[in-house]
Amino acid sequence: MRFTVLTLFPELIEQGFSASITGRAMEKGLLELRCINIRDFASDRYGHVDDYPYGGGAGMVMQAPPIYRAYEAAVREGPRPRLVYLTPQGEVFTQKKAIELAQEEELYILCGHYEGVDERVLEEIATDRISIGDYVLTGGELPALVLMDAVSRMVPGVLSNEESGEDESFMNGLLEYPQYTRPEVFMGRPVPEILKSGHHANIARWRRNESLRRTKEVRPELLEKAELDKTDRKFLQSLESDIEEKN
Ligand code: SAM
Repeated sequence: MRFTVLTLFPELIEQGFSASITGRAMEKGLLELRCINIRDFASDRYGHVDDYPYGGGAGMVMQAPPIYRAYEAAVREGPRPRLVYLTPQGEVFTQKKAIELAQEEELYILCGHYEGVDERVLEEIATDRISIGDYVLTGGELPALVLMDAVSRMVPGVLSNEESGEDESFMNGLLEYPQYTRPEVFMGRPVPEILKSGHHANIARWRRNESLRRTKEVRPELLEKAELDKTDRKFLQSLESDIEEKN
């Protein structure tokens, strides 16, 4: 999969993406990254890419022409690529969206800065508007790295078998169960006995129950959409009864 990122800070994206698992996947040729510096397409020789907002108000707005020129220079022949504009006004990013975007062979990403981007260039080139959460950051580079990381993990081959994302939070609509590794006892806290039993079915049931418990405690709304069987429902009911008894 190839990412083309239109940004004013290519070094942020390059550094962030070239570490660890995504860096390794780039070396293997599973992922490709191309950063286009929007400033290289500035309207004047001083490198200006922003201007005051029409109608007044605080801050500066990224101008349409440099972004459009950067985009035009990057796109190849053929159909227009999918381009995500990162914005707090977009649909909130989810694991489901990461899986969907990982199906693309090529994904363009536009990072805004200052007060944002002239709406007209977005109307022209953006196919998706995505937010990474209900808060405002100074620029789109960190959100781009978040999105690219989550999407990359869903590209076949990027995660090794040991790192496989199948069990992880949100993959089955639930939060993941708690994880433990050596030492066996840490500050007087032992690893749950069952995880050392070697009994795969019991371990799987314990993990599923802990997953249900954690989801119910922290993100109960996820349970409404999760696929639950009879045993899951019974376990959740037992949690309810425990709470009632305690009260
Ligand atoms: N004035 C904009 C607004 O109120 O919606 C916020 C602009 S923000 C200071 C500058 C840039 O950071 C945005 O253009 C966007 O690319 C990025 N950004 C900030 N918060 C974000 C978020 N939660 N998700 C995605 N991108 C974000």
